[in-house]
Amino acid sequence: MTTTINWLEEAKKRQEELLATTQAFLRIKSVLDPETIQDGAPFGKGIREALDFAVDVCKESGMAIKDIDGYAAHAEFGAGEEIIGILSHVDVVPEGDGWSTPPYAAEIVDGKIVARGAIDDKGPTMAAIFAAKLVLELGLPLSKRVRLIFGTDEESSWQCVKRYFESEEMPTMGFTPDADFPLIYAEKGLTDLTLRQTSEAYRAQQVPAASRADARLVSFAAGLRMNMVPDKGQAILEPAGQTHEQLVERFQQYLKDSGMNGHAEEKDGRVALQMEGVSVHGMDPGKGVNAGTELIHFLRTLQLDERADQYTSFADRYLYRQHYGETIGIAHEDAEMGALTLNTGVLEYEADEDALFRVNIRYPHSVSYDQWSKILEERLQEAAFSLEVVEHLPPHRVDPKHPLVTTLQRVYTEQTGEEAGIIAIGGATYGRSLDVGVAFGPLFPGRPDSAHQRDEYILVEDLVKATAIYAQAIYELAK
Ligand SMILES: [Zn+2]
Repeated sequence: MTTTINWLEEAKKRQEELLATTQAFLRIKSVLDPETIQDGAPFGKGIREALDFAVDVCKESGMAIKDIDGYAAHAEFGAGEEIIGILSHVDVVPEGDGWSTPPYAAEIVDGKIVARGAIDDKGPTMAAIFAAKLVLELGLPLSKRVRLIFGTDEESSWQCVKRYFESEEMPTMGFTPDADFPLIYAEKGLTDLTLRQTSEAYRAQQVPAASRADARLVSFAAGLRMNMVPDKGQAILEPAGQTHEQLVERFQQYLKDSGMNGHAEEKDGRVALQMEGVSVHGMDPGKGVNAGTELIHFLRTLQLDERADQYTSFADRYLYRQHYGETIGIAHEDAEMGALTLNTGVLEYEADEDALFRVNIRYPHSVSYDQWSKILEERLQEAAFSLEVVEHLPPHRVDPKHPLVTTLQRVYTEQTGEEAGIIAIGGATYGRSLDVGVAFGPLFPGRPDSAHQRDEYILVEDLVKATAIYAQAIYELAK
């Protein structure tokens, strides 16, 4: 029976309704809005409205609905012990400026629906809903339940899924249409850490430790986010053993010798040094140039006050061009998920206040968190730094031989004629919210990713194709 279903044909039959419904869905501005938060709408009015819209489409086609206080909702059909989960989200990031068509008009231009949320993740959410509708309408026999789960704050804090799974069943297996085709089956562990200089002795010390110091470090700042490589670094120095002119000259000479970009200027009796780097995503810090640690490397050529000396010495030894944690002793790599990476995203130093580094470490599943964090902690202790874990998401991986993976691979190949290679990534997808979950589309290989950008879009053709793929996937997993 299954072989006779032409899934793409079935999706195409519903194309007009799919487009109209997707457009109407995209016209709801579902951005986090703290000002309209109320009971049942924990992320504001727009997101609540989008959640209702998605749920209503499901309700009309006969699915059973449950709303979890506006944090999430699900729509279910089929019968059986097991649940196949499809997890997507109805919230979007703010639209920003510079759009060619209004971001919430959802106009169709050159075969693309252009709107905030078109590809991330309201277009795919509607594709999944129509896929489920299609399976329902064909009246195919199922031995499992199919559950569409709608999250509401994927773009901010994932409280939605946290809250949802506190009270609701974890699906036996499932996928999220919120990343790339063919299929993402493995994601590195992610940690955000604060390394803080602890020595109280240095804290009190506001003058250069010895007359031999060239300068006192007044402040240092680079980077805003742990998951980005800083592209600017600034140090403010108070001349001591060296004059303004000497400090400026030494920096200029250093720039010349190192080929780095930056500049130095005298300001109110102090010297401000700026270093420029290249910002890239923190999951692959070796591809960027960290302006913060590069500037520290210059500072190491000066004799600084004692506290600054301790701060810069730590950074220069353990963080400067140490994209894999080599000198800390935590470098680790496996063939499947790649290397542990270390990004120093934020560097902050105030002479009589905090001095810290905020780092993002991503690690493959073949090394345990306890293993590497213990080594890091030892290095920190020796250097009089403390470790705060701001966030830790363990690695996520589904066995490549698991029926979830092999079934989705087969469906993808049948629908596209393309081989379905499986992908391991350093980032995080919504798929890791499921115990046994993978990311499956909607972005096809070779398509530019417009998520979070102006003129975000999904190709109508791809939306329809994704609907066909999801329909067959739902059926094959739940039959
Ligand atoms: Zn998303």
